[in-house]
Amino acid sequence: MKTIDKIYINGEFVSPKGTEYFNLISPTTNEKLGEVILGNTEDTQNAIDAAKTAFKTFSKTTASERIQYLENIKIEIEKRKSEFIDIVVEEYGGTFQFASNSFTYMQKSFDSAINLLKNYEFTKTMGESEVQMAPIGVVGIIIPWNSSNGFICSKLSTAIAAGCTVVIKPSEMSAQQTQLITECLHEAKLPKGVFNIVNGLGEVVGNEISRNPDIAKISFTGSTSVGKIIAKEAVNTMKRVTLELGGKSPNIILDDADFSKAIPLAVIAAYMNSGQACIAGTRLLIPESKLEETKLIIKEVISNTIVGDPKNPNTAVGPMVSEKQFNRVQDYIQIGINEGAEILTGGLGKPEGLEKGNFVKPTVFIHVNNKMRIAQEEIFGPVLSIITYKTEEDAIEIANDTNYGLQAYISSSDPKRAQRVASQINAGRVQINGISHDPMAPFGGFKQSGIGREFGILGLEAYLEPRALIQQK
Ligand code: NAP
Ligand code: MG
Repeated sequence: MKTIDKIYINGEFVSPKGTEYFNLISPTTNEKLGEVILGNTEDTQNAIDAAKTAFKTFSKTTASERIQYLENIKIEIEKRKSEFIDIVVEEYGGTFQFASNSFTYMQKSFDSAINLLKNYEFTKTMGESEVQMAPIGVVGIIIPWNSSNGFICSKLSTAIAAGCTVVIKPSEMSAQQTQLITECLHEAKLPKGVFNIVNGLGEVVGNEISRNPDIAKISFTGSTSVGKIIAKEAVNTMKRVTLELGGKSPNIILDDADFSKAIPLAVIAAYMNSGQACIAGTRLLIPESKLEETKLIIKEVISNTIVGDPKNPNTAVGPMVSEKQFNRVQDYIQIGINEGAEILTGGLGKPEGLEKGNFVKPTVFIHVNNKMRIAQEEIFGPVLSIITYKTEEDAIEIANDTNYGLQAYISSSDPKRAQRVASQINAGRVQINGISHDPMAPFGGFKQSGIGREFGILGLEAYLEPRALIQQK
């Protein structure tokens, strides 16, 4: 049993003023792993004050000083690689494969922030003027549980690159992962107050970050519903917001694709991070004439998809993070049945032998109509909907018939055709014939998948304000 009883403010681990406890429960066994004390409003204000003071000097550091800080953090994180992987498996129920990829993603965040800093011109000439790209101020970082330290690393590395200071509010369910990264950040010896981390509830700590006039910008990853609450609150003090929200990503398999490759890839896209991924390809768009072939391949792939103990390196689908999330996924499977979709594989209930944890049967629905709730709403679990289309135009229309627009996938044997279709999809990223992350390319959503972009130059500039100096000659 572990007790996380400290938060991190102004370069120190401190006892929070908050006194409420939150239980940390294993997703794999539902046994109690430990508990975390939750910070309160006063703790959040103290963290913001520390970040505000630190900003005065940190905002004036040089790019090379900040490169050094980023390198120091990366070194400290690398020292504890196996602990990072183990804690994601234990606390979150992330599969070993996911936890390992997640660690690489953390490392790459620092590499790409360093790369940006080496090349970015903070002073430019526009028209007759000198334009200085100035750090925006104190940034509030609010993130969910599904890739907690990944989000901390990508957002914090960009904030540091820009010369901003931060207050981070992770999900309370990720307290042990947060403890580990905080220890690494502490060892990296950044100036006091550059980063502050407060465990606590969204309605308390998150709300204070959204409200407090000393926060200049919020970088939020989470649900569209909470994103809207934050954006409404932020407007009162005109905070800048970057919102990375939900998704219902379409995966278009064109009729010329190699189905023996595209369909297994589609299962990976749908069930990545046990389906708890904003970018999961949860709507599989198949040419009508290829449905029978697809069904056969999918059944075969899923019969070889290992569900179970996330520690097992071969496991592809682990438990849902919490009982609440398990119930939400079950509700959606029931909704799909009620709406008249047909279960090809999976369905309600837990897989045999896995009754103790929050395990869901990887589920595939066929005869799904894009108007159904299971095709429109984010489920955040291993549930895939197959939708058939008649023509390429039809496929594009269905793909875009959604409130979301975070990511899309396309498979085709003709790269030009894939490119042509991709250019008509309203999504921040379109993956063609594969799945990868480009940390120098923008990431973010069209429509209700968010506002703004992370990564690359656009991501960095979201932490900067342009100041134009117009000299009269
Ligand atoms: P969530 O409920 O939106 O919570 C995200 C964060 O916001 C948590 O830290 C939460 O704190 C906090 N929060 C809740 N209410 C708040 C409020 N009123 N004011 C300020 N902060 C508040 O999301 P989740 O259920 O944890 O995570 C799943 C969602 O994240 C999915 O919808 C998924 O699509 C989205 N997501 C998006 C991306 C992306 O990059 N676009 C990536 C991953 C996940 P508590 O934990 O205390 O509630
Ligand atoms: Mg929540």
